[in-house]
Amino acid sequence: MEVSAVEGLPEVRAGDDLAALVAERVDPADGDVVCVASTVVSKAEGRKADLEEFAPGDRARAVADRLEAVTGDPKDPRFARAVLEESEELLTEAPFLLAVTRFGHVTVNAGIDRSNVPGADLLLLPENPTASAERLSAALEAPVVVTDTSGRPFRYGQRGVAVGWHGLPAARDWRGERDRDGRELGVTVQAVVDELAAAANLVTGEGGGGTPAAVVRGWEFGDHDGSDELFRADEDDVIRAALRDWRPG
Ligand code: GDP
Ligand code: MN
Ligand code: MN
Repeated sequence: MEVSAVEGLPEVRAGDDLAALVAERVDPADGDVVCVASTVVSKAEGRKADLEEFAPGDRARAVADRLEAVTGDPKDPRFARAVLEESEELLTEAPFLLAVTRFGHVTVNAGIDRSNVPGADLLLLPENPTASAERLSAALEAPVVVTDTSGRPFRYGQRGVAVGWHGLPAARDWRGERDRDGRELGVTVQAVVDELAAAANLVTGEGGGGTPAAVVRGWEFGDHDGSDELFRADEDDVIRAALRDWRPG
């Protein structure tokens, strides 16, 4: 398997045809998967925003005040308002805002970025990254994974995750297959779109590299069942349930 960054993409602006920009630089072969950083999908979809667009109400002020009290750092209630607008729910309000986005991804600050956003304060995640992946996939005639850099519980550091995908299943279901001793696998559902996103993130980088897309060549899904379940359903998420009751000490 080979993962290579797509070189030479310009700064992406609202209204740009992102698929065409990518297609001018790479011609995906059969079996290639194209991974695209959500940051440029958002830019193309006009998801830059300024703090002044978010008028804080009582809830946003309360969230910002509490965050400020717990962390000791100044917090802008307009930013809290932006996170609230992008979220279905806040699982934690301190020491950071852990949000369930409207499309089901759980991440700090609803994935709103303040880096690599020239000319604006904020960059919101795409409204529906799987719909974005579907449009890109149709134009590129290849499976597409839309990625974001995200933290993870239990471990320091961030890595790439899939926030949307189209043209391949989210996961490879090994259940019912056998290990080397012939034991049947009972629980293993491999979240391949996250693994592809993490691999792509290795070459796209996080800073000023200017490489928001990567092509994965020579990887095969193989002869397995597929599943599109990636974001855990609420009733099936004990961590989410525990966090709702948790308050920082
Ligand atoms: P995120 O992980 O989706 O939030 O995106 P990052 O901010 O980490 O950026 C990923 C990569 O895309 C980095 O190499 C950035 O330099 C690059 N990048 C971000 N925006 C643009 C853009 O508009 N054009 C180009 N060519 N590269 C960009
Ligand atoms: Mn991001
Ligand atoms: Mn990143």
